[in-house]
Amino acid sequence: MNGQDYHGYGTPGGGGHARYSRQLPLSMMGEAGQRRLAESKVLVVGLGGLGSVVGSYLAAAGVGHITLVDDDVVEMSNLNRQFIYGDSVGRQKALAAAAFLAKVNPEVKLEPVAHPIQDALLDWTLYDLAFDCLDNNESRLALNEACRDAGVPLVHAGVDATRGQVFTSIPGVTACLRCMLPKGRQDRIPVFGPAAGVVASIQASEGIRVLLERFPPLTGKMLLIDLADYSFETVEMERAEACPVCQRD
Ligand SMILES: [Zn+2]
Repeated sequence: MNGQDYHGYGTPGGGGHARYSRQLPLSMMGEAGQRRLAESKVLVVGLGGLGSVVGSYLAAAGVGHITLVDDDVVEMSNLNRQFIYGDSVGRQKALAAAAFLAKVNPEVKLEPVAHPIQDALLDWTLYDLAFDCLDNNESRLALNEACRDAGVPLVHAGVDATRGQVFTSIPGVTACLRCMLPKGRQDRIPVFGPAAGVVASIQASEGIRVLLERFPPLTGKMLLIDLADYSFETVEMERAEACPVCQRD
């Protein structure tokens, strides 16, 4: 351990300054930003094609505390896009993801929660940010409601075949997921693996920027992408007047 490598983020022996040396020069980051990430506590809800990639980027970037929520087990059909689970078929995703991310960055604290978000019994007041990496709107709306009530920003993303979307919801400021998402569940949608990767990367970028800047580019805006023609479009999302969740803000 070189004492000069430790600047108040990470843990002694974890690599400190060297680990983050390629991101510290970024104008959004610097020593202060890196310390802010180290002090941040985030929630990744859903550990499929989105959450497994989002969690990887957060851990690699040095986000200090990551709670990983999913009650599923790894299936063979997950592996076309959820490549962190290559040797984990049959294991709980929350535990397998925590084991993988601990290898990505031993400096971050990982908390696996192998329950559905509705039963996860979390202290929402502790979190700086949540990521919606879920695959059904029923769970999304439960997460949305908990985040709005606790004042926790939420970065939503979804994938369907080659298409994807990302939206950042800030309580008291922007529309919420209830303003725009229909209720109901859709199972076994097709997913083009690289679409999940692109969308998850943008979601991770948004989340890191919420932690660093508070209001990143997709605050209150929905990014719609399609890898069929590489189109990117951003749409302003208005609050729904009748939204029962926003009315509690
Ligand atoms: Zn709303």
